[in-house]
Amino acid sequence: MHHNRLSYPDGVVAVTYIDRVLTCIDCGAEFVFPAGEQEFFAEKNFRNEPKRCKACRMRRKDKTYKVRPETKITCAECGKETTVPFKPTQGKPILCRSCFKKSKEQTGQGGTS
Ligand SMILES: [Zn+2]
Ligand SMILES: [Zn+2]
Repeated sequence: MHHNRLSYPDGVVAVTYIDRVLTCIDCGAEFVFPAGEQEFFAEKNFRNEPKRCKACRMRRKDKTYKVRPETKITCAECGKETTVPFKPTQGKPILCRSCFKKSKEQTGQGGTS
């Protein structure tokens, strides 16, 4: 009879990873850093833990995603508060989208034959 003894060589430590909850530095949301990913990180010798949730990471990866500088303005025409995707020039009256459209239509009304 042959005895098969199960033995672990010295120095082998079974590392068990457990899912960890981290906080996203971008949106502040809590996200799970899964055990599987921690193992992957350890294998690749990544020292830094993920700092962003999946959504934020995807967004950063997505090169077509651009942060538009939305500026809060008050429409000079109707007084409505809105945002514009550009930096308004100081001193110039800013119109909301609908008023801007209206004013454009009005100024374009020249030369009726
Ligand atoms: Zn996030
Ligand atoms: Zn307006």
